[in-house]
Amino acid sequence: MAKPVSFCTCTDTKCPYNPVNHDQGCTPCIAKNLRESEIPTCFFNKIDHPKPTGGWHYEDFAALVQAAKREAPDDAPKKLEVIINEADSIDKCFVNGDKDGITAIMKKAEGNAELSNFSRLWIINECRSALEELEE
Ligand code: SF4
Repeated sequence: MAKPVSFCTCTDTKCPYNPVNHDQGCTPCIAKNLRESEIPTCFFNKIDHPKPTGGWHYEDFAALVQAAKREAPDDAPKKLEVIINEADSIDKCFVNGDKDGITAIMKKAEGNAELSNFSRLWIINECRSALEELEE
């Protein structure tokens, strides 16, 4: 398996353009999206709101942005605080070479139903990147 792009939040590992299936990073994914007038999954995942449409085209992304703006959550500062606290914990574990601590943070995020999809994937990706760096 190729080394994944650390910030990629796309979970479709069966997609041939997913960075886990080759060693060309984002290039195949971006090329496919440009060819088909679509927006990469990572951009959709960055917005903490359910997709209001089924597609991945420019207009689907615009609809998502509009929906998220209309229904901006009141608890956005709290969600940000959770991410900042977890990032701080990951950093502390990383500095101390505490792989078990990072793994525990990752497992906690995986099982935390209160986290948004974006927050969960962000924390998991940060943990994976930190563990990879500690392995090197
Ligand atoms: S562009 Fe594609 S491959 Fe790159 S991070 Fe986004 S979804 Fe992943």
